[in-house]
Amino acid sequence: MSLIDNIVVSGGTHGNERTGVCLVKKWMENPTCYESLCKSARVELVFANPEAVRLNRRYRDFDMNRAFSQTCLDVSAEPQQYEFRRARELNRIYGPKGPDTKTDLILDVHNTGSNMGLCLILSARDPFTMKASAVLTQEFDDAWIYYQPEERSASPYFGTVAKADVCIEIGPQQHGTLDARLFERTEKLVKRYLELADEWNRGELQKRPPIPVKVYTQLRDLGYPKAWTGAPIEAMIHPDLLGRDYRELRKGDKLFRTFDGKDILYEGEADGRESVWPIFINEPAYYEKDIAMSLTVKSVEMW
Ligand SMILES: [Zn+2]
Repeated sequence: MSLIDNIVVSGGTHGNERTGVCLVKKWMENPTCYESLCKSARVELVFANPEAVRLNRRYRDFDMNRAFSQTCLDVSAEPQQYEFRRARELNRIYGPKGPDTKTDLILDVHNTGSNMGLCLILSARDPFTMKASAVLTQEFDDAWIYYQPEERSASPYFGTVAKADVCIEIGPQQHGTLDARLFERTEKLVKRYLELADEWNRGELQKRPPIPVKVYTQLRDLGYPKAWTGAPIEAMIHPDLLGRDYRELRKGDKLFRTFDGKDILYEGEADGRESVWPIFINEPAYYEKDIAMSLTVKSVEMW
């Protein structure tokens, strides 16, 4: 990325993820909280899904953070469902998604019920988001990098309306609730992104020496054991695995436990890989998506 002129900080893309909602509300009411942090860029705040925020629910009609693929945005008829309409509106205001977008960077703040700390999700190998996130893993002992590569036009996430984005997933926090310690750490983290964007615009961040980072790259989502698609789940996350996000899971390790107490072991991957690093373990919002956890591969890189 060259210069970062326009930044959007968003909360409430999922209405019951209250850390981002309350952070945006606080900053809207007290602009001095953020306006001096990145004077070289215009910083805007938005409640991405105000209707879901009002309801304190993830969404009203449809998961809005799955509505920003180019295909979804391009449908010619006016959509019936609220979130598809709102996604188009956000795309008109901050996009349009693609090379001509008005927005250089979106920082979209989410919560997870999983034990993921401050998870920085990068959807592309963008030089600013990589460098800034690497710096933040040095400054915050529970910051982690999850790399979820996806062709940008196909990606359904709000952040992909901008040239670059970080989806900031904060946990563990029950949806619909708040945790003061997590709120304060999140605010500090988002402030640092703004300061680092300013450092980038001064040409200084680029000059920092390479930083070794642990990168957790998306491999695949893993569903719950079921007799058939749509059937009720037949097992729970194994107690030995619960809360152990980012830890290595080896072939033969305990994965699920059935309701009558039998252990189901991890069998490795079809390609012969015998180790993975699960995240989003037991995320409540993913039960409806039939995702028990996301499997990643860990590597160490210099960013
Ligand atoms: Zn979310």
